[in-house]
Amino acid sequence: MNFSKKISILISTFLLSFIVASTSYAATLGYLNFWDSDSSEIGRWGVTPSIYNYAVDGSMQGTLSEYVTHARTEWNNAGIPSNSTSSDSNAQIKVYGGTYTNLKAIEPSIKTTNPGLCTWFANHEGEWIAFGIYKTGYKLTAAKVYIVYTTGQTTNTYKMVTTHEIGHSLGWLGHTNYSSNVMYPYATEKTSLGTQDIRHLKQVY
Ligand SMILES: [Zn+2]
Repeated sequence: MNFSKKISILISTFLLSFIVASTSYAATLGYLNFWDSDSSEIGRWGVTPSIYNYAVDGSMQGTLSEYVTHARTEWNNAGIPSNSTSSDSNAQIKVYGGTYTNLKAIEPSIKTTNPGLCTWFANHEGEWIAFGIYKTGYKLTAAKVYIVYTTGQTTNTYKMVTTHEIGHSLGWLGHTNYSSNVMYPYATEKTSLGTQDIRHLKQVY
């Protein structure tokens, strides 16, 4: 039963490539009061990114933009801003929705077990210090998000997956252990951001 359990598998983030700045020392970016991620990396944008969405086939026509608007609103309300754009070429973050087969054709790293995927490009910005431990800071330069259509999936699960993947594209790298958070690594029907979702990323913006 329980489709949401069946798709309760890793929603992945995937680093496509990045350029390490050729400085001989790491810039210290500052001290962080929280660290709620299972990753030692965090990113941010230097400009307010514009988000474009495109349904690659009929499966998410008319619904993908609704999920993206939900996700943008959640992150905007948390103090992590993005704009919406109808122009592909002006967008820093591009969100594609469609069937697994059609998305796989444009992003081969998508697995059948992924309800969503984010690929991102970034430059190494420097090091953050959280509780005495160095964390790698990236300045994001581009990201792509893929939302996979699956028969029987609920609207709230799509909203959760889209908010999660857009979270990665805004710099939330890694996942939380809290199932009440959207950055939990498994698909749920939790559509609004939790405490750790917000405080972890907000502190670098
Ligand atoms: Zn993820």
